[in-house]
Amino acid sequence: MPDCWRSFLKQRALQQGLTHITDTVLGCECNAEGDIAALTLQTRGRYAADFYIDCSGFRALLIEQGLKIPFIEFGENLFNDAAVAIGSLRPTDAPIQAETVSQAMSAGWAWAIPLQHRIGNGYVYSRAHLSAEQAERELREHLGPQAETLPARHLNMRIGRRTRHWHRNCLAVGLSQGFIEPLEATALMLVQLTLVQFVTELSQHGNAPDAQDRCNQEVNRMFDGVRDYIVAHYKLNGRSDSDYWIDAREHAPVSDTLGALMEAWDSGQFEDALQRYSPSLAYLRPSWYVLFSGMGRFSEHAGALRTPTRHPERTQFVQQHYPDHLSALRQMTAQSP
Ligand SMILES: Cc1cc2nc3c(=O)[nH]c(=O)nc-3n(C[C@H](O)[C@H](O)[C@H](O)COP(=O)(O)OP(=O)(O)OC[C@H]3O[C@@H](n4cnc5c(N)ncnc54)[C@H](O)[C@@H]3O)c2cc1C
Repeated sequence: MPDCWRSFLKQRALQQGLTHITDTVLGCECNAEGDIAALTLQTRGRYAADFYIDCSGFRALLIEQGLKIPFIEFGENLFNDAAVAIGSLRPTDAPIQAETVSQAMSAGWAWAIPLQHRIGNGYVYSRAHLSAEQAERELREHLGPQAETLPARHLNMRIGRRTRHWHRNCLAVGLSQGFIEPLEATALMLVQLTLVQFVTELSQHGNAPDAQDRCNQEVNRMFDGVRDYIVAHYKLNGRSDSDYWIDAREHAPVSDTLGALMEAWDSGQFEDALQRYSPSLAYLRPSWYVLFSGMGRFSEHAGALRTPTRHPERTQFVQQHYPDHLSALRQMTAQSP
């Protein structure tokens, strides 16, 4: 997390009357009932609290190492489990794109996120299909001569989710509760959803087992729904230029829900299926249409969708009446306190 965000959140917390302690968690102890009794901190020693929030990232110090809550791996149909990132400079006055660009690579996809002063670039890939060295080389080639001397950062990702996120006197949030590869940038949305569910249940029912169960069920539903939507991106791919894309299309299993949606799309029963499966979907109707049609999946039943409606006059209106992205950002930062 960038330092400016960290200090913003810290200031907010202090204003609410919280005490901020900086220390390293060495471990935690549980009592006979299975609650966390205390943390062991490097400088403060034993530190007891009523409730604990595990936001220790992939290390999952409390929810996994302490409470031993199982982790369900999504690796059988979401292959990407590593990333390499290389930040590049952006000339100050160059136009800035308003969107993240995601581009298919030999064993995954590359992102380019334009920021005000630099571009965040990276390659999310499958270690079963590509080594870290190969991934870095491919990313450098993709970025061109400008990236030759820039440093690369490698990281591994654990893809899946906990069976329970709120367990007894502990809530796991963020990477400690699970992670789905960032193709649709859903991680912070899942953090927000978890917190909203938790706060809603806690404020109405306290730390009760059925409140925990309802919260866990909803968070799991969203995780699995997001997984299905991301898996569909890979399942519908039409590439045959590497084992990765062929494996993703032909060898990755799909959930019953996704299988039924794909079948319904092909047979022209898509609306019915969307209705029937709506309780287990994280993404709504328009997203599914955009995905299936955007991936070029058309059967004779979907013929009417083949001709996209274009509105050149709207594009022209936007170009004439709105500032470009760089000017808009400059305006906003000049106005912020
Ligand atoms: C390649 C990639 C791309 C992503 N893209 C997106 C995106 O586009 N959109 C999106 O919403 N999300 C994205 N995410 C996810 C986003 O980065 C995470 O959701 C977010 O960083 C979660 O933060 P976290 O606090 O759970 O974990 P982290 O950011 O890993 O923070 C964990 C913290 O715990 C601390 N810690 C660890 N061990 C100890 C210890 N023993 N004692 C004390 N402190 C400790 C660490 O110092 C760290 O500060 C992406 C993630 C990856 C890997």
